[in-house]
Amino acid sequence: MNLHFASMVDDDPSAYPRKRSSVIFLCGCPLKCGFCCRPELLDTSSCGEEPTSFFSRHFAETKPEAVVFAGGEPLMQGNALHELCMILAKQQRVSVKIDTCGYYPDALADLLPFLSYVSLDIKTRLKQNDYAEMTGFEGNPELLLSNVLRSLAFLEKLGSHVFKEFRFTIVEGKNDDAEIAESVAKYVAPYCDRFLVVADDRNNALPIAQACRKHVQNVALRTPQAEEKVF
Ligand code: SF4
Repeated sequence: MNLHFASMVDDDPSAYPRKRSSVIFLCGCPLKCGFCCRPELLDTSSCGEEPTSFFSRHFAETKPEAVVFAGGEPLMQGNALHELCMILAKQQRVSVKIDTCGYYPDALADLLPFLSYVSLDIKTRLKQNDYAEMTGFEGNPELLLSNVLRSLAFLEKLGSHVFKEFRFTIVEGKNDDAEIAESVAKYVAPYCDRFLVVADDRNNALPIAQACRKHVQNVALRTPQAEEKVF
């Protein structure tokens, strides 16, 4: 099977904690977040395409300690990722991380046995209309929220072997409210290994991250200047 991808970065020191990793930026996404940091990946027509064997051969040569699937939404190509992960599992010892928006719960569940790290974006409070508006989703809001909730449930039930990170990106005027972030942190708290708040403005974001800290022990705040642990 082929994978649509925009680029591949080798020897990335920060994409996977304490491991030298290769990152594949995969194309396509079912959402249209106005704040997307990689909008060029949403349109697959401008992306390259290679068979899974191309990537497995590359990793056999470069021998990364970790492979990171980023996007776009990697699980939009869940079958091809599953095929690549099966090859990698036989071929070499490597940790695998995925960044996801949670829209494809069944693909996530299928891939979980191969994963060691899942970073799932939660965009706003877990209410269907809020979620659809925040993500520019043009389909059925009920389906969108149901998919995200099923992804969370799979992580809770089937992901005990996986490091589970939840990312909350603060967008001014949309979800920059401690009550919203706190409701998300509270929901995932029973199985959250790390809650990452991403923001442009540290002063506004710190009280929001501190509100999340009431529910999750390991909270971090990432701004353009630095990443810090929140107490
Ligand atoms: S889910 Fe991620 S990749 Fe997709 S549009 Fe939103 S921010 Fe961009």
